[in-house]
Amino acid sequence: MSSIEIALTPEQVRAAGGRLAVEAARFTGYGWMRGTSGNISEVVSREPLRLAVTASGLDKGELLATDVAVVGPRGEAVAVAGVEPLRPSAEAGLHARVAALTGADAIVHVHALNAVVAGRRWPGGVLLRDVETLKGIGRLAHDDEVVIPVIRNSQDMEELGDRFEAAHDPRTPAVIVADHGLYAWGTDLKHARHVTECVEWLLAYALATA
Ligand SMILES: [Zn+2]
Repeated sequence: MSSIEIALTPEQVRAAGGRLAVEAARFTGYGWMRGTSGNISEVVSREPLRLAVTASGLDKGELLATDVAVVGPRGEAVAVAGVEPLRPSAEAGLHARVAALTGADAIVHVHALNAVVAGRRWPGGVLLRDVETLKGIGRLAHDDEVVIPVIRNSQDMEELGDRFEAAHDPRTPAVIVADHGLYAWGTDLKHARHVTECVEWLLAYALATA
C-alpha cells in the first residue's frame, strides 16, 4: 500500500461492497460459505485492474457494504482515499488472475460440498453432457462435451493461478480447486451467480447419476 488510489471513489467501493454483501448472504443461505469461507469479487477498474472483494475473516452472511477490500492484479491490497483499508483474503490473488485471464467482471469462490466431492471423484476433470442446465453456463444442452477442470489446491496463489491458467477452458466459466471449492465467473455479479448455481447443480447431478 505505497500509494493512494485516486481513480476510485469511496462511493464506488461501497456500492460494490453492497452488491457483494447481498450475493454473499445469498450464497451463505445455500450453505456454500460456511464459517468465514469463500469470497466474491467484482472488477471496479480494468486499467489498472482493481477488484472489490469481500473482506477476509468475516461471516459472509452478515457483511455490510463497508466490509470490502480493494485489490490489484496480484491480490495485493490497494488503498483508496476515504475507504477503511480492510484485509483481503489471500484468495483475492486468484480472483484477480481469473479476471485478467477470462475478462470476467465478477468472480465467485465458494466451498460448495458438491464441488469438493466431485473434484475428489474426478481429479482429471468432471465430464458433463446432454443435460439442459448446461445452457446455464453457456454450453449446449445436447452433443456438447463439457469438462469442468479440476486443479490441485495450493496456499500459494501464484502457483494456484498458474494451475488455473494451464487448466482453464475459455468456453467453461468454472474451475474446481481439489479438496477446496469452486471458482465460477461471469460478466456481472448476477451472471456469475447464475453460473455458480448451475455449475453446483450440474456437479450434484453428475454425482447423483455416476
Ligand atoms: Zn477457499
